[in-house]
Amino acid sequence: MNDVVVRFAPSPTGFLHIGGIRTALINYIVVQQSKKKDPKSKLLLRIEDTDITRSKDEYKKSILDGLEWMGIEWDEKPHIQSESIDRHKEIAFKLLEKGHAYKCVCTKEELETRRLENQKLRKNIKRLCTKCKNDSATQQLEKDFCIRINIPNDGKISVLDKIQGLVVVENKEIDNFILLRKDGTPTYMLSVVVDDHDMGVNIIIRGDDHLNNIFRQLHIYKSLKWDLPTYAHHPLIHGDDGLKLSKRHGAVDINEFKKKGYLPQAIINNLILLSWSPKKNDENIEIGEIINTFDLEKMSKSSSIFDYNKLNHFNNFYLQKEENYKYFEEFVNENSILKNFFDIDKILMKKLFNTYKKNINFYSELENISKIYYDEEFKTILNNELDDNFNIILNDFMKHLDFIDVWSKDNLKNCINKFLELKKIKFPIFGKPVRIVLTNLKEGPPINDILFILGRKNTFLRLNNYINSANKL
Ligand code: GLU
Repeated sequence: MNDVVVRFAPSPTGFLHIGGIRTALINYIVVQQSKKKDPKSKLLLRIEDTDITRSKDEYKKSILDGLEWMGIEWDEKPHIQSESIDRHKEIAFKLLEKGHAYKCVCTKEELETRRLENQKLRKNIKRLCTKCKNDSATQQLEKDFCIRINIPNDGKISVLDKIQGLVVVENKEIDNFILLRKDGTPTYMLSVVVDDHDMGVNIIIRGDDHLNNIFRQLHIYKSLKWDLPTYAHHPLIHGDDGLKLSKRHGAVDINEFKKKGYLPQAIINNLILLSWSPKKNDENIEIGEIINTFDLEKMSKSSSIFDYNKLNHFNNFYLQKEENYKYFEEFVNENSILKNFFDIDKILMKKLFNTYKKNINFYSELENISKIYYDEEFKTILNNELDDNFNIILNDFMKHLDFIDVWSKDNLKNCINKFLELKKIKFPIFGKPVRIVLTNLKEGPPINDILFILGRKNTFLRLNNYINSANKL
């Protein structure tokens, strides 16, 4: 058997997190590599919605939309875990029947008392339910019990994880966890194994927060004599303070990244370099090349820091690419502020983007910039950098500008340079106040770019308004 079946199994209990995208991405890369050898390989998507109280449709939608936007395609239609609950129950009873599980009637309070007693005696005993297994009355009950796994006390279990290497755990370290709750609902530990088996999953790639679950889950596989999957637990991503990446650090939901104006290419590039290195000098790498060179077994075991500056660096690189201009227009269509401006003047928006793309990290930074250029009521805020000397020079400059026949960047640049030469003025002395007059900003692109974006009519309108207001003083 060469075909690889992997899965991404998010719980719809929150919006799709960037860490989830990373897991999905690694699964996607591995399956794309495998498809080259065996086209039957597949990446399945399973929505793990068995936690009814916390699962929400809006989260499920965020998962599907987020994956689609990232270009992470899965095979078949999504599997919905709650649709297989009867099958999970059937397996719980099968394990019970074969003696690999037992009925338990311990209450939460009883278990807590035992835990505290053990704590006092400084005993770290994982199995808190000790009496039910050998109590024949409990084992004959027809209702009001939960089903727990029955794991022998002796022996150990080992796994060769593709990323973590060899991991060994003594059986006595594993708790007798619940398979089926008293209310008849299956637990994550049971459902995940039954579904992975039934869906034919043979490589399980997920975050290393699930590493401890391997041993519990392997006991279920072994008890049922099912083929064991291969595991690869990748390290999680952390914020720059070493803690698990969360809202505190910045955007974490994939939708937030989309709304801010990040490109999937930049996110992929940033995520894949977190614990794997393509052996090449430059760090820019796109999905095709990643698929050709990625090696799951070469992923680092240690957690990595998600660096927003690095992401900005990649995003700035990708958004400048000529062939990616279409993504800017897609973004504008979904961003109400930019869309409004775009509908007023498409050419202006294009000019703005082409000038500012070198300086922005993500598209939504253009919201504030656009407000300046589209402002028909624009007024220069007078300040002491705009003095009488400057006003005299500006009047002169406007006469030169008036001679320009074609309002192009080059003609504007030539006009400015000739003017400065003629007046023997250094560029910053003149450029900065002109920028302020036209945009109320001290920093920004070169003056000829600003003049070009505004166009002849608006440039003169703003300059004349300024001169008039300055004269009134
Ligand atoms: N549903 C689990 C989660 O969202 C993942 C389960 C698994 O990959 O085994 O964390």
